[in-house]
Amino acid sequence: MATSKLRKAARIILIGAPGVGKGTQTERLLQRFPQLAAISSGDLLRDNVRNKTPLGIQAEALMKRGALVPDSMILRLIRNALTTRGWLIPADGIQPITLNSMAASAELSGGADNDALGRDGYVTIPPELDMEYRYSEHPDASFILDGFPRNAVQATQLESMVPVNMAIHVHTPAEIIAERMSNRWVHPASGRVYNTTFHAPKVEGKDDVTGEPLIQRDDDKPEVWRSRLKTFEESSRGLLEHYESRGVLWKVQGNSSDEITPKLFAEFQRRFGL
Ligand code: AMP
Repeated sequence: MATSKLRKAARIILIGAPGVGKGTQTERLLQRFPQLAAISSGDLLRDNVRNKTPLGIQAEALMKRGALVPDSMILRLIRNALTTRGWLIPADGIQPITLNSMAASAELSGGADNDALGRDGYVTIPPELDMEYRYSEHPDASFILDGFPRNAVQATQLESMVPVNMAIHVHTPAEIIAERMSNRWVHPASGRVYNTTFHAPKVEGKDDVTGEPLIQRDDDKPEVWRSRLKTFEESSRGLLEHYESRGVLWKVQGNSSDEITPKLFAEFQRRFGL
């Protein structure tokens, strides 16, 4: 596939129902625009679950039943991922823990953020507490966030660190997604996704690259998917309004990923392409 260069930093989020193909569109955008990189909040969480980190253990039960994990938890993951990649630079670095900062943090987050204390004995100050961040406008500092933010609170928290300049709402009718989900298989180690109707693995039940077995994700099962869809519909309303009011929301519709991709590429090229 031909690749294209960007003329400015693209800071993209994808909003769409579970199974709409956000991951597929992300992969395709990355191939076409190599300056882009992506972070998926679901993948970050699944890594933590697989590695049985304290955060993963807390998140697992919630994820299994299709509920969202706490905002404080996901924000911490994303902030770490953004800073590790150098897309976000804390102006003051992390602050040493003091009793006052602990109390302030607990108070401002309604006491819910009891996981603010890192294992290294430092508290990562939530961004709304005067934390200042810098980010680059260079095209190489471009990114796509898939699955984050999921609600208006997360969007506001992200905004206080780095402003999104295009929010892409990917829409496909729910019945079509439901049908597709029942045919979806993944290779857990790599995250490669297959679909037995339109993107079947070369050998049934096996990953094309490694030959390892494919599995169906627990949260792709029909009853869990319905519950995730409901969660999406409830939480995305505020999210869409948030980006609409900031003038960065763009909606793309189609019954399949292949229908959506060309529209997305054209608009993306128009906004960010060289
Ligand atoms: P996904 O792969 O994006 O559908 O995410 C899988 C699961 O991870 C979701 O059902 C949630 O339980 C959790 N999750 C992912 N992203 C978020 C987020 N931004 N906020 C809260 N929970 C999330």
